[in-house]
Amino acid sequence: MKSEIISIGTELLLGEITDTNASYLAGQLSRLGIDLYWISQVGDNQARLEEVLKRAWQRSELILTTGGLGPTEDDLTRETIAGMLAEKAEIKPALESNLRERFARGGMEMPLSNLKQATLIPSAEPITNARGTAPGWWVTRDGRILISMPGPPLELQEMWQKQVQPRLRQISTAVILSKTFKTIGLSEAAVGELAFPLFHSANPTLGVYAKPDGVQLRIMAKAASQKQAEKMIAAGEAKIRAALGEYIWGTDDDTLETTVGRLLTEKGLSLAVIEDYSGGWLTASLTDVPESSAFFKGGLVASSDEAKIASGVAAGLISQYGAVSPEVAQAMAEAVRLRLRADIGVSITGIKETGDNPTGLVYIDAADNKSSVIISRARGKRRATATALLELRKLLTSLD
Ligand code: AMP
Ligand code: MG
Repeated sequence: MKSEIISIGTELLLGEITDTNASYLAGQLSRLGIDLYWISQVGDNQARLEEVLKRAWQRSELILTTGGLGPTEDDLTRETIAGMLAEKAEIKPALESNLRERFARGGMEMPLSNLKQATLIPSAEPITNARGTAPGWWVTRDGRILISMPGPPLELQEMWQKQVQPRLRQISTAVILSKTFKTIGLSEAAVGELAFPLFHSANPTLGVYAKPDGVQLRIMAKAASQKQAEKMIAAGEAKIRAALGEYIWGTDDDTLETTVGRLLTEKGLSLAVIEDYSGGWLTASLTDVPESSAFFKGGLVASSDEAKIASGVAAGLISQYGAVSPEVAQAMAEAVRLRLRADIGVSITGIKETGDNPTGLVYIDAADNKSSVIISRARGKRRATATALLELRKLLTSLD
């Protein structure tokens, strides 16, 4: 089924709000196996909205709109749909009494302008809005389905989950499954060059994305049944693992911190970290791991020389080499490992980006491992954190 999304609202075109509704719906459609071909944004202007709707009506079987269902004069979605289909919108007594009750429950009189939220055209059915006053419209005509949902994301998502998605699931005849492989050690281009030749047809499709924690490769299969889609993914996975296996550190929802946490727990090792440059990001990500207290001793944010000295770094080392030096990074990692009685200490230090000479230094100090002298350079808090976790993972997988 060919679908498209239309996001309605002048705020979108002014750059005041981000179109999170379209991203949300796009992700949802993909899970339902519905092909999404276009996303458009249009302001609160009846002529331009009609133009976009007409085009959608001609080329798509399923049209989802968000926004413009409010009570004010700039909310024009209903009027425009009625105009495009040359149908007359009428107030429905049942919808009107729902609305009036809703206002009465809040101890308010319903403003007259809200009445338009109680209207329907003959081709439309109302879609209940559990979180707001504006019901949606489910329009069926000429072999097309047009679904209008409200703009506020919470209202949209609830309406989607409770009412729209279950109905569309009945209609959709395809299943789309995807699996993401997370790699490290290869560039985006290298991953592409290794992976694309493995797949000769347009299904499954491949996507390659560079992320702070490495390059991701996604394989997406479309099939008539769940079983068939699973088979395609499994066959694709076998090819990908054969070609890229050594570079893959995780799949789908795996994160670096959960991977590191699992390895530490398996090996019965504990970890302590000290951070300057990354300001606590590493600590925050590690403490997001469920049951992190099993392996995580703690994290110190040592922004000043004083804090580094208080954590056990020799003052002389800082004055001799400077706070952002391999020597001090090493001393920090060692100090936190000893102070917090951990098996492994990790430090991140660095200078904030200034032109071309940025860099954070990541240092890992493991009590019993001579090969622990790892220094990596990374720019930015997120990358420094990801680098620390990647280096940790490398160290942990090499230990046995
Ligand atoms: P509307 O139904 O057009 O009056 O929209 C009401 C509110 O919902 C807007 O002020 C935004 O805060 C939010 N909203 C509308 N459209 C979107 C969208 N496409 N993505 C995210 N938020 C939106
Ligand atoms: Mg609006």
